[in-house]
Amino acid sequence: MSASTPAATPTRSASHGTPRAAARVPGREARRLHGVWTANRYLILRRLTQLGVLALFLTGPLAGVWIAKGTLAASLTFDVLPLTDPFVVLQSLVARHWPETTALTGVAIVIGFYLIFGGRTFCSFVCPVNPVTDLAAWLRRRLGVEKGFSMRRETRWLVAVAVLAAAAATGTIAFELINPVTLIYRAVLFGTLAGLSIVVAILVFDLVVARDGWCGHVCPVGTAYGLIGKATLLRVSARGRTRCDDCLDCFAVCPENHVIAPALRGRDGATPVILSGDCTACGRCVDVCPERVFTFTHRFDRRVDAALPPSPPVAGPDSPATLEKV
Ligand code: SF4
Ligand code: SF4
Repeated sequence: MSASTPAATPTRSASHGTPRAAARVPGREARRLHGVWTANRYLILRRLTQLGVLALFLTGPLAGVWIAKGTLAASLTFDVLPLTDPFVVLQSLVARHWPETTALTGVAIVIGFYLIFGGRTFCSFVCPVNPVTDLAAWLRRRLGVEKGFSMRRETRWLVAVAVLAAAAATGTIAFELINPVTLIYRAVLFGTLAGLSIVVAILVFDLVVARDGWCGHVCPVGTAYGLIGKATLLRVSARGRTRCDDCLDCFAVCPENHVIAPALRGRDGATPVILSGDCTACGRCVDVCPERVFTFTHRFDRRVDAALPPSPPVAGPDSPATLEKV
């Protein structure tokens, strides 16, 4: 994992001349410089999207107005638009159950959508587990919890293969019995308790055991969307990397912070676009960067902002300008 802890030593911001507190709170400087909305807009947008998607499913059970039926694993909106989770279809295939035409149409629509709008935007903008893991990450930063057990990034691939092997061995989509994405939706829609216990388990796991443990290292649904994300059009770019003053706020809040350095540091003229499928396109780095380094763009956008000219030296008693006048 790349640098992930905020700067602990008091330093001075290169471009704003503001003293940094010893215990830096990521996002505070962006809030002070750019306002609450700009420093939180993608976070707010994500919460609204997550609630909005949930509301589409809730109108049926609560008010008898069925907009979306099913769960995020497989749904039908307005009785015409099927949407199917690619990992569910993959499990179905290895379990030797050929999916119905509706499910295949649904998965084609979902893959097409996320090939344009960012594979793991499902994780950051739609999945109901995201607010839980975001809460655990926020508590970790607030409470100063150590990084904890260091899980290898390859773990997610092992989990995905194990889940597919289980489907092949049992001839069923066994993972759906414990899939938190589905269980949380069932808990909200039908009041089942399994979803609540899985929320607590993931919260504790991410808070106490491993930083960004579930989404970043375990969840096979996110792994599948990450595969789509390798080719997706929508990307985050460190276009303003010449302004970076190494405050490390973006590293502190990013749930996949190993993806930032190649684009931000730009060694050997590397593209400023974050091309890793692991990036969830959550936009949190865009929010919290005080220097407005990051922006959403498309994957072929290689622009980098020009470097700012160096600031003129401040006149002091011993500065050349002052001595000249004397
Ligand atoms: S790089 Fe930015 S958009 Fe991508 S996961 Fe990290 S914080 Fe989110
Ligand atoms: S990109 Fe922005 S948030 Fe990240 S280290 Fe540089 S100045 Fe700080």
